[in-house]
Amino acid sequence: MARILVIGGGTAGTAAGLALRKAGFEVTVHEAHPTAAEDIGAFLTLASNGMRALAQIDASAAVTATGFELTALSVLDGTGAELANRPLAGADDPLLRYRCLRRGELNAALQAEAVRRGVDVRHGARLVSVEAGPDAVTAHFTDGGTATGDLLVGADGLNSAVRHSFAPDTRPAYAGERVFYGYTTEAPVTEGTGRITLIRGSAAAFGYAVSPTGETYWFARVTGEPLPPGDLADDTPDRWRELLLPLLRRDATPAAGIVAATTDSIMVTHATEMPPGASWRTARTLIIGDAAHAASPATGQGASMALEDAVVLAKALRDAPNIDKALTAYESLRRSRVEHNIAVSGQISRRADSPAGPAVATPPPTEDELLRHLAWDTDVWTLARDA
Ligand SMILES: Cc1cc2nc3c(=O)[nH]c(=O)nc-3n(C[C@H](O)[C@H](O)[C@H](O)COP(=O)(O)OP(=O)(O)OC[C@H]3O[C@@H](n4cnc5c(N)ncnc54)[C@H](O)[C@@H]3O)c2cc1C
Repeated sequence: MARILVIGGGTAGTAAGLALRKAGFEVTVHEAHPTAAEDIGAFLTLASNGMRALAQIDASAAVTATGFELTALSVLDGTGAELANRPLAGADDPLLRYRCLRRGELNAALQAEAVRRGVDVRHGARLVSVEAGPDAVTAHFTDGGTATGDLLVGADGLNSAVRHSFAPDTRPAYAGERVFYGYTTEAPVTEGTGRITLIRGSAAAFGYAVSPTGETYWFARVTGEPLPPGDLADDTPDRWRELLLPLLRRDATPAAGIVAATTDSIMVTHATEMPPGASWRTARTLIIGDAAHAASPATGQGASMALEDAVVLAKALRDAPNIDKALTAYESLRRSRVEHNIAVSGQISRRADSPAGPAVATPPPTEDELLRHLAWDTDVWTLARDA
């Protein structure tokens, strides 16, 4: 039985731990943060494809115990007029319904489930270097500790140390917009829970959803230059509110009222994306999730893509005759899908008419093909060989 080291206990890493365990591997997850509750600030929406991936690794219940479901979407223009109002994909299936939750809650739920199933999750283990040998790979940690396995999976996010170990020149780039997000219980919105509203404002793309306890989760994406270095670390909600409000007050929508009602929970980050075509692997090392294919958040697919990665990787290692063939199969099934998402999301972030980079060479999998890639019982080695 292969021993697999997963570096990073975020969405990609803990889901990979669960999936690899289900596929019969001995797996250890090494997370730099000392506790499970890292990055409580940001929230995200898991789409029906991410929920489908979770169902393949029997982790739906663990995740639906936290956050709240979304079943409908409204789209407004800058005048507040409704452009669309429809059910979200998967709305009629409790396992596939969109879910809105804080990123820290998602990771904590997945980590607890992994531990419950016997996955060894080690906190406070920050990888510093990777030593590859002909028969094994060794991870070195900041505390001087080491771990050795047959394969090392880097799920260590945007600034991946694992990626740096074999592709030091590959870095995420600014994707053209600043992303603000926040929470308030004082917002003057009247609709109930279960709906996400997207607003195509004249100066910002805005979105909000109300939790069952009446808390409004919101984000605002503002196209433009990156904030000056150092500003992202400036934890000043008043400043972000004053920066956003004039942009949102240009429109007759609920956005400005929601932000005005938000007192201390406003955060900002840059949208970033990985360049297409970058290397994902060496003989015994592979990167997944944001480490490999971070995309701007415009399509809201980063965490769902990370969950899909985990399922397809575990199946590839289960079904292929050896690690090299498994990683080749994994990459052939995943690259076009995630790079298509990077291109589409970046185009939305830049409010551009066409993608910034070269066209993705291979078309992404169709809906039916994706279902086969994810379904736990299909043999992905055969699917990749026949593709
Ligand atoms: C503002 C914003 C909004 C977003 N909204 C959405 C959304 O609505 N829907 C969606 O699907 N996605 C969304 N995303 C994207 C989503 O958050 C990411 O794609 C997803 O969290 C990636 O998961 P990951 O596990 O690959 O990386 P991460 O979540 O970054 O996890 C990496 C983990 O590795 C650990 N780590 C880092 N370095 C080391 C090291 N050297 N050694 C050991 N451990 C290490 C970190 O502590 C962390 O726990 C959004 C992103 C942003 C920025």
